[in-house]
Amino acid sequence: MPQKTESKKMSRPNLRDSIYSLTVEELKEWVKEQGEPGFRTSQIYEWLYQKRVDSFDDMTNLPKHFREKLKQSFSITTLQTIVQQTSQDGTVKFLFELVDGYSIETVLMKHHYGYSVCVTTQVGCRIGCTFCASTLGGLKRQLEAGEIVSQVLKVQKALDETDERVSSVVIMGIGEPFDNYEEMLAFLKIINHDKGLNIGARHITVSTSGIIPKIYRFADEEMQINFAVSLHAPNDELRTKLMPINKAFSMDKLLEAVEYYNKKTGRRVTFEYGLFGGENDSIEHAKELADRIRHLKCHVNLIPVNYVPERNYTRTPKHQIFAFERALKEEGINVTIRREQGHDIDAACGQLRARERKDETR
Ligand code: SAH
Repeated sequence: MPQKTESKKMSRPNLRDSIYSLTVEELKEWVKEQGEPGFRTSQIYEWLYQKRVDSFDDMTNLPKHFREKLKQSFSITTLQTIVQQTSQDGTVKFLFELVDGYSIETVLMKHHYGYSVCVTTQVGCRIGCTFCASTLGGLKRQLEAGEIVSQVLKVQKALDETDERVSSVVIMGIGEPFDNYEEMLAFLKIINHDKGLNIGARHITVSTSGIIPKIYRFADEEMQINFAVSLHAPNDELRTKLMPINKAFSMDKLLEAVEYYNKKTGRRVTFEYGLFGGENDSIEHAKELADRIRHLKCHVNLIPVNYVPERNYTRTPKHQIFAFERALKEEGINVTIRREQGHDIDAACGQLRARERKDETR
């Protein structure tokens, strides 16, 4: 494994491209350049995503010389499991090591409708939300699409043992997906493709802290993917305190972008609203929030805050969470409270990494 050095930290690992980073179109192009027939693309995709082999040598219906070419051009493994913790409720948290030694988290959650995987898009994060463990230590580097795809594959391989399937994916792990837009987009195309992992767009959710130009771009992609925005506050003053990104992208502009998304896609947006004790959780806050978002096609997901030792926020008491929910309902806003999972295993974004890898998160 290559040494982790200062100079490498912000750059990508200097390795052959991961085969998992290639969309079908990119692979098709490459296959063509090699002078091979077009059907090789489907064969490779099938080996990677349906049969889920770990080596090019296992792709037995490909000619030997072509397998050698693949080996010379691409890598096929990228992630090593460092920690795998199972919670009492069945949530499994993985800490994976990347080829350059950095670590990322992935979470598998069991729901009544199937299994979902929460993936990481960056090593660390530069958004700086004051309540979040993922941003401790800042951004180390971007993940390549293949490193995001590999997280789903690793979890799928664990499920293969009991013949079960990842049915949905949420991009809500460490990192800001819209700060790594191109790789995130390639990831979406790969897992959504019917020859890839075939995860339906309606079963994929992406969440952003609110990088406005990328919200417009995402709306224009017109993908049927679920879209969430971390709002966490009903006004600029409070939002800036919780999320410094609000200084660059004010709430008015953010809500305008959401309205554009609503109109362009016809789809609703989920606002994530973490309840931080004594900060943003009063009935007045609920009413103010309702006034700001009433005109939008939206839904609010209330998140009981996860305590992060490095951060100072406290949890809103249960009765207050219900009162906040009621107040929004009375104002005609669709609202749910996020079910908590994996509480006993540091399942909030970045917590496991912060505990296991102190050197990366200081
Ligand atoms: N960067 C993206 C993706 C992260 S998604 C985003 O900001 O949307 C993870 C969600 O959990 C976000 O809504 C984030 O704001 C929230 N979150 C982070 N730390 C939290 C904590 N300690 N308690 C509750 N929610 C938290």
